[in-house]
Order: sequence, then structure tokens, then C-alpha cells
Amino acid sequence: AQVWSSVPLAPPDSIFALTARYVADTNPKKINLGVGAYRDDNGKPWVLPVVKKASRKVEESDRDHEYLSITGLPAFTNAAQKLVFGEDSLSVKENRVISVQTLSGTGANHLAALFMSRFYQFTKDKEIYISNPTWANHNAIISNVGLNPVSYPYYNPQTIGLDFEGFVKSIESMPAKSVILLHSCAHNPTGVDPTSEQWQILAELFLKKGHYAFFDSAYQGFATGDLDRDSSSVRLFASKRIPMLVCQSFAKNAGLYNERVGALHVVGASEDEAQRIKSQLSVLQRSEISNPPAYGAHVVSLILTDPELFSEWKRDIKTMSSRIIEMRDQLYNKLQELKTPAPAGRSDWGHIKSQIGMFSFTGLNKAQCDSLVNNYSIYLTANGRISMAGLNTHNLQRFAESVDEVVR
Ligand code: PLP
Repeated sequence: AQVWSSVPLAPPDSIFALTARYVADTNPKKINLGVGAYRDDNGKPWVLPVVKKASRKVEESDRDHEYLSITGLPAFTNAAQKLVFGEDSLSVKENRVISVQTLSGTGANHLAALFMSRFYQFTKDKEIYISNPTWANHNAIISNVGLNPVSYPYYNPQTIGLDFEGFVKSIESMPAKSVILLHSCAHNPTGVDPTSEQWQILAELFLKKGHYAFFDSAYQGFATGDLDRDSSSVRLFASKRIPMLVCQSFAKNAGLYNERVGALHVVGASEDEAQRIKSQLSVLQRSEISNPPAYGAHVVSLILTDPELFSEWKRDIKTMSSRIIEMRDQLYNKLQELKTPAPAGRSDWGHIKSQIGMFSFTGLNKAQCDSLVNNYSIYLTANGRISMAGLNTHNLQRFAESVDEVVR
């Protein structure tokens, strides 16, 4: 009998499919601006020098391979917590933050959504509000646990910037106690973040309406090069005692993509509440993965707790973020020099410079993106997003000239 005859063929994941096309392309001048992973100036993955050092230490230590506890390595989760909330965080000092080690940021988002699906008192139809657009996986992760992802206005294609007015109106009109997913910094895919004044306004609105902040922090350090500054949105919300959780990933800022190092931090109203939350997260985690992997967590906890390694990590993060910012400047200058017509609604390409983090939303339309992929072997997603880390001093000119050709 054909047991699986009714299983329909699913489409491949679009970003991984794009990478596969890039790999198969024989054009020596091909450029990959698809996947959000850091590359050095030679277009190669970069193992952070501090990670090499810490890895060596971990390998030399005589650690065993016993199971970690269900909630992970305490040295890691405690240090990770301080990295997000800050050394002086009242929530941390009052033992109201509980942290669980997860399978990177994806695992943190999943565990958070699962916990929400079981325990949050939703006002309306199990809705979680996500920005339009957002990281594509948010939709899937939220739907997978039986919750309903609903978009809120975020990006304004006319200005290639933040639709703050739309965002605010939407937050005001949502039912009280809505769950709203926020990118703590370096919004994916747009590279458009609220300013600190706008974060203040958002925080006040959350307080007024009793909304729940579901923070996704996948790029701490990548946005400005400063770990503290990049966590200021989270810290602002925590200081105002807005009910919240944070999904944290070390994939990008430590370059540990395939080690799956992350954490979920939930802030409770009291220590007792925090402990009850932790007990339920443990129950959920037990049936999902039993316990998280140890290697990457050991590496990161060394980096976070050894002052010398921590300083070195901060320098490595600066290396990455500065190179990306340099590429933004160079791309902008090149397009200016070529007098490349700006996207509809824009007088110039200034958005390339003002956007932040790994990605830039270029404003290129689908036809232009398709042409870059098919005729120039330049791989980017059809929404016009480019990974700035894919650009370097060797391919930037070719990219700018190709953009110039497709927009004319
Ligand atoms: N959240 C956002 C917004 C992301 O862009 C990503 C990665 O691209 C993640 C979470 C999770 O990544 P990982 O599971 O590799 O930590």
C-alpha cells in the first residue's frame, strides 16, 4: 500500500534554494548576497579569532560528554542573560529572569512560541503580531505551534524606511495584552530600526495597552558594533517592567551558525513566577530535545566570562560590523558616481547607508532582482534584500554596475 501517496511535494526553502543555485553556478564572477552569514573581504566565512582561542581551550579541558541539564549549561545561560539585559539589570538582580539554552535563535523562537501557545491568556484568536515584512521563519514557527501570525505595518516602500505612524496606529488598535514580536536591533529583512526616541514611544504604548513584548535578538553587536547599544531596546522595555521575553542567538555575532547556540530569556513579575515559568519550559524542552548540545555553549560561556576573551570578542564584532558599514559607504558612493537612478520614491541611495545590520533593503523590484540573478549571477532574494556581508572590495564595483544596468 502506498502509505504516503497523499503527501504533496513541498517547495524548497527559498533562501537555501537560492544558495544551491549560487553553488551550482559556474560563472566565476558570481556573487552571493542571499544568505545572512558574515563573509570576510575575500568572500570567505570567517572563524572569529576569539572563537578559535576559546575552542582550543574547550578541547583541551578534560570535559566529558554527559548530558547537560534540561535547561542547559548554567555558566552559559547566566552569562548570556547578562549580555542581553546588562550587568546592572534590576530584572536579573531580582532573579526574575529565567533562561533556557536553546537550539540557537530558531529554537528560542520555537520554545517561546510553544510556551505562549500553552500558557498565554490570548485576548483574540491566539494572535501573535509580526512586522510586515519579517524573517520568513517567524510565520512558520508561530503557525507550527497553533498560533496565528498577523502582520503589523512596519516598512514603508515609498520611503524605504520605517512606517512609524502605521506601526503606532496598529499597536494602539490591537486588543489589550496583545503579543507583539519585535526585532531588538538590525531588523531582518529591512535593516530599518526604530530610533531611540521611537523605542521610547513604543515602550509607553506597550505599557498603556499591557502588550507583551516578544523580542527576537539575533544580531546583538552586528548593528552598531556595540553590544550594549544593540540591546538598548530590550533594556528599555525591561526597565519599564513591560512583560517580555527575549530569543537570543549567537549564530551571527559569534559566527557559530552550525553550533546552534542560543537562549530563551523570560522575565517574570516575581522570582516565584519566574521559577514556575522555568519549570514549565523544562517540561516542554524535555519532550522536544531533552537537553541542548554542549560544545558551542562551552565556547560562548568562556568568551563571555573571561575578561580577556570578552574584550577580544568585542574587537572581532567591531571588525565585522565595521566592514559591513564600510561596504554601505562604498556601495552608496559607487551608485552616486554612476548616477544610478534611485528606486521609486527616493531621490538617492541614502537608505543603503542609513539601514543597519546584516541586510539592506535596496528597493529593487522583483523584475530587477530576477534579472540580477538570471543575467548577472548575482544572487539576492526577490524582495530586493541583499546581505551586505556578501559584498567586498573585489565584487562591489561589479555589483554596483550591474544594479546600474538593471534599473535603467
Ligand atoms: N531571528 C532572526 C530575525 C534571524 O534573522 C535569524 C537568522 O537568520 C534567526 C532568528 C535565527 O537564527 P539561528 O537559528 O541561526 O540562530
